[in-house]
Amino acid sequence: MSNKPLGKKIGMVSLGCPKALVDSERILTQLKTEGYEISDDYNDSELVVINTCGFIDSAIEESLGTIGEAMEANGKVIVTGCLGANKEKILEKYPDVLSVTGPQAYEEVLNSVHQYAAPAHNPHIDLVPPQGVKLTPRHYAYLKISEGCNHRCTFCIIPHLRGDLVSRPVGDILDEAEKLAKAGVRELLVISQDTSAYGVDIRYRTGFWQGRPVKSNLVELCENLSQLGIWVRLHYVYPYPNVDKLIPLMAERKILPYLDIPFQHSSPAILKNMKRPAHTENSLRRIENWRRDVPDLTLRSTFIVGFPGETEADFQHLLDWLETAQLDRVGCFKYSPVEGAPANDIAEHVPEEVKEERWARFMEKQAQISAQRLQKKVGQTLQVIVDQVDEDNITGRSWADAPEIDGEVITKNEWDLKPGDIFEARITAADDYDLYAEPADWDEEHKD
Ligand code: SF4
Repeated sequence: MSNKPLGKKIGMVSLGCPKALVDSERILTQLKTEGYEISDDYNDSELVVINTCGFIDSAIEESLGTIGEAMEANGKVIVTGCLGANKEKILEKYPDVLSVTGPQAYEEVLNSVHQYAAPAHNPHIDLVPPQGVKLTPRHYAYLKISEGCNHRCTFCIIPHLRGDLVSRPVGDILDEAEKLAKAGVRELLVISQDTSAYGVDIRYRTGFWQGRPVKSNLVELCENLSQLGIWVRLHYVYPYPNVDKLIPLMAERKILPYLDIPFQHSSPAILKNMKRPAHTENSLRRIENWRRDVPDLTLRSTFIVGFPGETEADFQHLLDWLETAQLDRVGCFKYSPVEGAPANDIAEHVPEEVKEERWARFMEKQAQISAQRLQKKVGQTLQVIVDQVDEDNITGRSWADAPEIDGEVITKNEWDLKPGDIFEARITAADDYDLYAEPADWDEEHKD
């Protein structure tokens, strides 16, 4: 039995996007390093840290609601994250919170924790595992390569909250990725507000990793990540010309042939009003060229329907674009005004019932496309990573599916597999979103 003294307990709630999750992980890693224990019970904690999201109005409501719950149950609350950038809004509703900071304020959050729950005297601390404390399952991890954004999309207030792009030193990113791989992570999800812009703020300067020069650009970063021998998946990629240089790495399977590109719309007039990055690029031709080089490239995207001023013709343009683009996975949001976003004043707002109707037509169209594309996978053999094993099923994802947002591959629990294992699966059936499979060419030996 361990005889180390128990540290003080800190509650932690992480709201918002994967980027916020990475911020929470850093805070947790540090707290654990200092000997604190992390608790998921407000009542049982010395105090509660809440990492908030301020992206859209519903996220703001959720963040404020969570602060309220923690105040009621515990009374000692530290607020950080995107909504924290709007300090007045929080203090107006909850004047008694202990402190409020914006995103990435790790030091201030830790200082507040030290002030209101001083670290245990002489703690014989738990040494954190070398990869830090993960909120995600052990076998996959988010790798944040930059913070902030140089664009000013009219529907988004992230640059206002998080500032301009700041790229992390390439050597630091690769060190972190290597530690994660050594600690058992099998899949890295590369994230940032604008992944293709990595390095632009530091003029793609040359950094060092393991004594070798490495340029701070996405291609060299991916080349080096590919040497870790684990899955590397790219999110939030804008179709700048430099993305073409990633395609050969995908063709060689050095990184997963998967691109998450938030297109948001196709109509030139709407894209212009949205001030989207790379909006003048001919995205359909780019997709065609990429698929010529990597036929099984998987494309995921998100769209907004009902943007102010969107006409029926703009919307029809989007449906036609979808039909031609044949994306694999798609998310769609109805435009919802975010306080302070310039888009609110750009043009007349689309009535709610029209937004609703367009959203339904969009989803119907994409469901058909996704289902047809999944059907084509029946009979193929795909690599699958196991996420979860329960009594009946082994639930995993093919390389073409990102965790949380894409589909699943379901296999009967008759095989000796555990979370994080990667196996060759023969796809036996498909529905609108998920695939069903069995291990390819396995015999009785591999059965449980
Ligand atoms: S690219 Fe646009 S939507 Fe994305 S964070 Fe930057 S401003 Fe916001």
